[in-house]
Amino acid sequence: MGERGPGETSGGWPDAWQEAWHDLVAHARRTVADGLVVGTSGNVSVRVGDAVLVTPSGIPYERLRARDLLAVDLRGRRVAGELAPTSELPLHLAVYRTTEARAVVHTHAVHATAVSTLVDELPAVHYMTAVLGGPVRVAPYATFGSDELARHALTALRGRSGCLLRNHGTLVHGADLREAYDNTAQLEWMCRVWLAAASVPGRTPTLVPEDELARVRERFRGYGQR
Ligand code: 13P
Ligand code: ZN
Repeated sequence: MGERGPGETSGGWPDAWQEAWHDLVAHARRTVADGLVVGTSGNVSVRVGDAVLVTPSGIPYERLRARDLLAVDLRGRRVAGELAPTSELPLHLAVYRTTEARAVVHTHAVHATAVSTLVDELPAVHYMTAVLGGPVRVAPYATFGSDELARHALTALRGRSGCLLRNHGTLVHGADLREAYDNTAQLEWMCRVWLAAASVPGRTPTLVPEDELARVRERFRGYGQR
């Protein structure tokens, strides 16, 4: 991405779309580099105005170029590009239609997928649970790409910015791609912590109580640099 190869055109799309596409492809590539997906699993989208830029279905992210920019409207109608959009378009659009989300990241991260097969909710083993809005729920299984999966995910997401998809993976939304991506990585990390703690024979992990999660949420408002 970035440098255009021979014969590569900008397609005449708005600068904001081209910048968002560049960012989208960079984050999609990170999901592979960071081990959150294998091959063409997972998908990423970002909202720019009334358009949603999405990764195409079944194409390795390293092959994506500026000319592959793909955008749909909130009803899923293509407004730019030629490739077929991700099979999880119903999932991504359902999130944009019902939340303030500006970006959505879906992965098949190992520990999160393992946890999705074991419990209905990821126990609050760490205060970072608060970042996702509270204990992360597991949406019941439905076939990938189905409207049913999108419905289940929306229910699991209520009051949360992320959920697990049973026997499938993670779904996290955010105010931008960076937030959605970082919180996906945090969710995968927490799943790993819980699996490690819960697998110690004869011991049960302690949990962070709900009132403490509320305090942490408050504290995060002033966290980091101003
Ligand atoms: P796409 O390649 O169509 O995005 O599908 C990957 C996936 O993770 C489906 O759940
Ligand atoms: Zn998937």
